[in-house]
Amino acid sequence: MAETKIKNEKIWLASPHMSEEGYELQFVNEAFDMNFIAPLGPNVTGFEKEVAELVGSENAAALISGTAAIHMALKAAGVGEGDFVFCPTLTFSATANPIIYLNAIPIFIDSDMETWNIDPKALEIAFDRYGSKVKAVLVVHLYGLSADMDKILSICKKYGVPVIEDAAESLGAYYKGKHTGTFGDFGVFSFNGNKIITTSGGGMLVSDNQERISKVRFWSTQSRDKARHYQHSELGYNYRMSNVVAGIGRGQLKVLSRRVEKKKYIFEYYKRALGDLEGVGFMPINEWNKPNYWLSVMTLTGKIRPLQVIEALENENIESRPVWKPMHMQPFFAKYDYIGGKTSEILFENGVCLPSDTKMTDSDLERITKVIRSLWK
Ligand SMILES: *Cc1c(COP(=O)(O)O)cnc(C)c1O
Repeated sequence: MAETKIKNEKIWLASPHMSEEGYELQFVNEAFDMNFIAPLGPNVTGFEKEVAELVGSENAAALISGTAAIHMALKAAGVGEGDFVFCPTLTFSATANPIIYLNAIPIFIDSDMETWNIDPKALEIAFDRYGSKVKAVLVVHLYGLSADMDKILSICKKYGVPVIEDAAESLGAYYKGKHTGTFGDFGVFSFNGNKIITTSGGGMLVSDNQERISKVRFWSTQSRDKARHYQHSELGYNYRMSNVVAGIGRGQLKVLSRRVEKKKYIFEYYKRALGDLEGVGFMPINEWNKPNYWLSVMTLTGKIRPLQVIEALENENIESRPVWKPMHMQPFFAKYDYIGGKTSEILFENGVCLPSDTKMTDSDLERITKVIRSLWK
């Protein structure tokens, strides 16, 4: 019994994976040596510069989370009380929550099967219905697959509405050779524990608009006016990333491309090992899409259902998850308008996020696929 337990070591969906070289600790130690423990400092500035360079954006502001970055992006785009914001329904609730923080009104929009992201046709219908009352459009690059930005941008341009990309899951993913998160007016990245790289928790807002990024830095440090005494003419937030945390991020950036490579390897392994099974499909990889393969997602449209796979894996101490439950199906968000058909619901019903931890070995992958294959026997 004891032996099987050791053999059945837990396999995670996606867990933190620090660099083999220990880069993160080097940056953190430097911060300790210089007593840059207090917020801000060279790691924050360095991390902002390095992320901006990597993705090809003019400016970046390091914040405490991706959620805080979405909040600040919406505010910087001018969203306020009573404004409408278009938001994909198939996403994590963190995309939609900041709309509510600002007392604005989310309108949820369906995905299409080609990208699993916001459906340009549904977006057109939403604009027909809400027109000038819309203050911003949120676009998500789900699981590191890019949305079809050309189509989305041309629609949003026609209506003159700013675009915010929630690229929390897509650091390292490109659309037609350009990094996701750099097409719209603002882009958001997350460094939460399960993301492709992590700072233990953190986010980044990027934009070519320097004035807006400076404003976000101001709001994020309690909106302190330039005065010797504490003076505030605007509502403030305590949203800035700390210099210690940013050190972890700088170390993690050095291994991002290695992590993307491994994620791709994992996805291709699953396709090879499971692709022949009845009813099995995988997330769509378009020819213009260079995903980061954050999570490998399988779809099941035959006899074997997602819950059976999830439970079979769970019995073997292996973590997997359903696809995000659409926002328009969530008790908290159900009262808001929803535009589209059944695509996001179908993806939710049929999708399984397979273990995508970059620390997995081939024998881990073999263990996982064996458990899954046994369901078809
Ligand atoms: C993780 C995630 C976020 C939130 O990022 P945090 O850093 O955890 O606040 C937002 N949107 C999506 C799609 C995410 O996956």
